[in-house]
Amino acid sequence: MVVIGAGFGGLRVARGLAGVEADVLVVDRHNYHCFQPLLYQVATAGLEPEEIAYPVRRILRGIPNVRFRMATVIGLDLEGRRVLTEDGSIPFDYLVLATGSVTNYFGLDELKDRALGLKDLNQAVALRNHLLDCFERAVAEKDLQRRAALLTFVIVGGGPTGVELAGALAELIRLVLAHDYAGLDFKDARVVLTEAGPYLLGSFAADLQKAALRSLRQKGVEVHLASPVKGFDGHMVELASGETIQAETLIWAAGVRPGELAAAAGLPVARGGRVKVDPTLQVEQNPNVYAIGDLASFEDVDGRPLPMLAPVAIQQGELVAENIRRQIAGQPLLHFVYRDKGTMATIGRNAAVCQIGNLHLTGFPAWVAWLVVHLLQLISFRNRMLVLINWIWDYLFFERAVRLITRD
Ligand SMILES: Cc1cc2nc3c(=O)[nH]c(=O)nc-3n(C[C@H](O)[C@H](O)[C@H](O)COP(=O)(O)OP(=O)(O)OC[C@H]3O[C@@H](n4cnc5c(N)ncnc54)[C@H](O)[C@@H]3O)c2cc1C
Repeated sequence: MVVIGAGFGGLRVARGLAGVEADVLVVDRHNYHCFQPLLYQVATAGLEPEEIAYPVRRILRGIPNVRFRMATVIGLDLEGRRVLTEDGSIPFDYLVLATGSVTNYFGLDELKDRALGLKDLNQAVALRNHLLDCFERAVAEKDLQRRAALLTFVIVGGGPTGVELAGALAELIRLVLAHDYAGLDFKDARVVLTEAGPYLLGSFAADLQKAALRSLRQKGVEVHLASPVKGFDGHMVELASGETIQAETLIWAAGVRPGELAAAAGLPVARGGRVKVDPTLQVEQNPNVYAIGDLASFEDVDGRPLPMLAPVAIQQGELVAENIRRQIAGQPLLHFVYRDKGTMATIGRNAAVCQIGNLHLTGFPAWVAWLVVHLLQLISFRNRMLVLINWIWDYLFFERAVRLITRD
């Protein structure tokens, strides 16, 4: 059995197959599992990359029938039942596709080289370096207009990632960097959040959307709703309305889409590129191939595809492990039913929104709930402790421990 992807979904499959009488191989291009929900804290100098990642070999140690190989999958030979990697091919009887998603530029592909992303650890560290570098360059910049552009940070996308990043960046600037760069005029520093739709946090209830907007504005974030970005030349952001913003930084947090791997192999895909799966999570017309998480298009009872969220991937991973066991034993397979335990987003210190069924929380209670949930979901006790210490330190002393520019 080959599981491609050691993300939230793939790891659940691997763990769920512990003890099954078969060899399970997990393949990932990285040798670590990354806790993506906290990437924005790496980007804003709050956490070290190591604190939100964990080696896959350590996670799978102690499961004798599960092994790991670090490799990038470049293709699938479904007829020949082989996974093609840069280092050769791997045969399989059962295949689980859990490759997650990639950044979606919605056709603005020229932005790939100019915008900064927040999809993996390397991008988060690159963003941290860039943000801090802008302040160092601003100190030396004599031209007032250019200095203001260096201190203007435009974030595209008013979903949870954009909102969380905007809040954290505004606080980094106001509460921390304003003291580090005493000579700089911080009236020039702007965090601008642009969202194409009429609301922030589209999947949340209206009262929580409004609360998030209010909190962001209180923290000094300029929010532009119904303002799709049309282009960015490295110095100026152009909005569809024709308005322009002088800025050296554009951060793309507007959405994700599945990678090309499955579609290139001829697997059936729905609109948007996610792989069409049966209720059992088997890929349509491919009973030995399963797809889960961000990659899979699974519709809820109302016919809408499930959101690209960690709990969806985790629950699907658990079901796929069970269904593979059943398939081997010749038993009927189970259908996937998503248990929505709620969604949350934090806007910064003492501010978050949290929606659990009909329960809507904002402000401090929501923020505490967010902290607890995210801390508990991190892999390894050590990482939880380190993150907790960093958070307490930040909260008490208004500090961000990792204000390092770590590149030449
Ligand atoms: C910045 C950010 C913040 C987020 N915040 C939240 C949040 O607060 N709450 C929430 O529920 N969800 C959040 N999400 C979404 C959540 O992280 C995803 O829904 C979840 O990770 C999907 O799990 P997955 O197993 O499908 O894919 P992933 O967890 O992305 O794992 C995919 C794995 O496949 C590997 N891979 C991909 N292609 C290849 C290849 N060709 N060869 C080898 N390996 C490959 C990758 O290296 C990766 O390890 C966030 C996502 C991002 C980017």
